[in-house]
Amino acid sequence: MIAVLAGGVGAAKFLRGLTNAGLQEEIVAIVNTGDDWVHYGLHISPDLDTIVYTLANLVNPETGWGLQDESFHARASLQRLGDDPWFTLGDRDIGLHMFRTQRLAEGASLTQVTAEIVQHLNVDLTVLPMTNDEVATKVLAQLPSKENQGDQIVELDFQEYFVRYHHQPRVLRVRYDHINTAKPSSDVTRALDTARRIIIAPSNPILSIGPILALRGISDQLQRRASEGAVVAISPIIAGEAVKGPLAEILDSLMTQHDARTVAQLYQEVASVFIVDTADAHLVESIRAGGLACLSTQTLMTDLDAAVNLAQFAVGAR
Ligand code: GDP
Repeated sequence: MIAVLAGGVGAAKFLRGLTNAGLQEEIVAIVNTGDDWVHYGLHISPDLDTIVYTLANLVNPETGWGLQDESFHARASLQRLGDDPWFTLGDRDIGLHMFRTQRLAEGASLTQVTAEIVQHLNVDLTVLPMTNDEVATKVLAQLPSKENQGDQIVELDFQEYFVRYHHQPRVLRVRYDHINTAKPSSDVTRALDTARRIIIAPSNPILSIGPILALRGISDQLQRRASEGAVVAISPIIAGEAVKGPLAEILDSLMTQHDARTVAQLYQEVASVFIVDTADAHLVESIRAGGLACLSTQTLMTDLDAAVNLAQFAVGAR
């Protein structure tokens, strides 16, 4: 079995490659739920849904999240009622959130509900939320001043930062609320114990992988597996830039630099091999000198073939 630590869009592209790589093994995605939130009473799990929609070939190809062929009548109703629905939810997407919310209210765990969704959407992948407990990523952000009143520093819910403010504000700190009381699910710890290979997908290391690593016991477990040579991490930074999203700006703000070496530092203890893009081949020696084995290959997943090649490389990397 191969386990993949996963966020949303970057991880979904990688998992599509891995499930098409001709491996005769179970693939288990262990997915961040720090972005989950309850909105209009609905339990929304953005990273779980991005992965499931992508693997079910239902994802909107333009955004990389949400469903294709969506309609937005519910949103229009809210606007007619004077509401400001800044977090866009399509009508078909809402149906899935209703199902999840109802099943959770009936007492099912998030792991159970996710397995049901995966089954109904014919997804050939085991998808595990990192925990059944609540964890909420919070972003301390610097909002630009209004009418020259000086910058405002406020702690935002993840979706406020990411969607309402279009991830524009400078990030001063990220914390994972409830992380000390949340437990990884038993399915997650079992998968990490038994996987022949664990791959940290090219996801955002602070916003997507960070919450998984911060769960009780997970870093220790990964360190143990890394010492056996089992853990491979892939850089989401190519030539000093994120492929998409605010990662470079966040790394710059929190760690004062934003190349692939910065990501390697974050994974230093929990990975045995780090993969950078060929555009960053000149960084391989300095990452190795820091004590982490490092290889380079094409990591930009421009199409399914590129994702398959990256997945095969990661599975075989030593
Ligand atoms: P999110 O939760 O939807 O933002 O998704 P993730 O955390 O899984 O992925 C976001 C990260 O994926 C960004 O930092 C991107 O740089 C990275 N990413 C997206 N596509 C690619 C790709 O094709 N190759 C690599 N190496 N990284 C990618």
